[in-house]
Amino acid sequence: NPNTEPMLLDPNKSGAPGIVLTTLDQAVAWARANSIWPMLFGLACCAIEMMSAQSSRYDMSRFGMELMRASPRQSDLMIVAGRLSRKMAPVLRRLYDQMPEPKYVIAMGDCASCGGIFNNYAIVQGVDEIVPVDVYVAGCPPRPEALIDGVLQLQRKIARQRTGEVLHVGPIDIRSE
Ligand code: SF4
Repeated sequence: NPNTEPMLLDPNKSGAPGIVLTTLDQAVAWARANSIWPMLFGLACCAIEMMSAQSSRYDMSRFGMELMRASPRQSDLMIVAGRLSRKMAPVLRRLYDQMPEPKYVIAMGDCASCGGIFNNYAIVQGVDEIVPVDVYVAGCPPRPEALIDGVLQLQRKIARQRTGEVLHVGPIDIRSE
């Protein structure tokens, strides 16, 4: 699966980046994975657990997520914490579009992942209808430890990412609908 496995390059073939660029790639990916800046953005009850994960008891900062940014332009991670209403979906997509590349999305909780208990017309049945999702965290709500585990999964994916490589499956563009 090209989205989960690192790209294998044969250094004997022309076009391969070689040892210097490959090592630089790895250094950039390592730094990127350990300095994620999530966006301060919550939708419903799951957001309370997300805030708790940032508190001193769980201290998500230990894993290189020091600050939540109040602007999408300063963020590279969107944690969709809670159910997403159809009315809110264009706003979420606009915030995602305003984040600089490379950017990542965690769907936190059952509602964000698949609609959860809200199986009705008003709620998006999984935010991957609207934005590409890198990691899904199950639970209603997931405990802070589960979110932290999701972040660690994402860090492993980012650490394997090479320059220009896209991790998530897409594109999903609601503007063209
Ligand atoms: Fe609320 Fe549960 Fe849905 Fe999270 S998954 S937004 S806790 S109902």
